[in-house]
Amino acid sequence: MEYKHFSHEHNLSIYQVPHGQHLKCYGCDKFCDKTIYACWQCNFFLHEHCGNATRYIKHPFHSSHYLILSPYPTYPSNCFVCNACGTNGTRFSYCCALCEVDLHVNCAFLPPKVTHKAHPHELVLNHSSQTGGQNQVCKMCRRSLDSNHWSYECPVCANYGVHTLCATSEIKMGLYQMDDGLETEPSNPSAPMTQPAAPTAQQGQGPSDGQVQVELTPLEALAILMGLSNANPHV
Ligand SMILES: [Zn+2]
Ligand SMILES: [Zn+2]
Ligand SMILES: [Zn+2]
Ligand SMILES: [Zn+2]
Ligand SMILES: [Zn+2]
Ligand SMILES: [Zn+2]
Repeated sequence: MEYKHFSHEHNLSIYQVPHGQHLKCYGCDKFCDKTIYACWQCNFFLHEHCGNATRYIKHPFHSSHYLILSPYPTYPSNCFVCNACGTNGTRFSYCCALCEVDLHVNCAFLPPKVTHKAHPHELVLNHSSQTGGQNQVCKMCRRSLDSNHWSYECPVCANYGVHTLCATSEIKMGLYQMDDGLETEPSNPSAPMTQPAAPTAQQGQGPSDGQVQVELTPLEALAILMGLSNANPHV
């Protein structure tokens, strides 16, 4: 059985990584385990979850625009800084080209709530520090907690915040994934990414809450992204 991934020119096959074999995933730059997609010709490997990540998601922490899965950073530095964890990334990202939001695939699917053996209460994912203040430190690793990045916080204890990477390594794939191939609603304005489609007409929106938001279809967002990453300007 062969698979096609949009980021790679050759077909991929399924492979079970045996214990002790070290293959790096092209999507997240971490070592592969269990089931992966492989192109042996190029030594190109993808975790099953990285290979199955959908082309766009609607994330609650950036709900005004779709986040588009980009196979490489769209910046000249060939690197992005993840808004969630604050570390660099050089591989796949979910990004909004309009707002310069970039997320590792793993960070895009952080669980909204986690439990950790170091704390008795459930911790809740926040994208802006609720406990606030400068000089906030992570209660697990004691290093500083940047309020520009995401954290897990305890709703019960005051000032209990930890880094996302300290709190969990769990990924909840599928959380914000949308119907990527099946058109269940004929009137759905979001056309599947795999098919060329004419720009959709403006949909009538519900009562506005006072703020005018530019709503992009995934296709339009992708067009902007590709435009930014394309050196040749089109006329
Ligand atoms: Zn991966
Ligand atoms: Zn290949
Ligand atoms: Zn990250
Ligand atoms: Zn945006
Ligand atoms: Zn920490
Ligand atoms: Zn607590």
